[in-house]
Amino acid sequence: MITRIDHLGIAVRSLDVAIPYYEKALGLKCEHREEVASQQVRTAFFNCGEVHLELLEPMSPDSPVGKFIEKNGEGIHHVAFATDNLTGQLQQAADAGVKLIHATPFEGAAGKMVAFLHPKSTFGVLTEFCAPKA
Ligand code: ZN
Repeated sequence: MITRIDHLGIAVRSLDVAIPYYEKALGLKCEHREEVASQQVRTAFFNCGEVHLELLEPMSPDSPVGKFIEKNGEGIHHVAFATDNLTGQLQQAADAGVKLIHATPFEGAAGKMVAFLHPKSTFGVLTEFCAPKA
């Protein structure tokens, strides 16, 4: 079951350039920075009430986020739903005919297991499911 929106992923060219906007203009605090080598991405997290913001800086132009920025520019990249049953959630989506990017969850940032649904099946919204690592 989906329990809430966990975070919004926002693609930026540079964390060092983008973080001051969130800190100075919005008054949010960067809580955590982390590299996710498997996705070739550097992340920075901001706490915004119950929802987090996850800034994503590509580590290379051919990485998923690098390609996203080349195609769409900077901006909202994905919506992440917290679920209490990651495998079941993926199965439910697959059973409903949704194309999965990852049929098997992998370890993302902040110690969570994550998997993505393909935006072609989700009305253009790259959708992430995430759950704490068991
Ligand atoms: Zn995410």
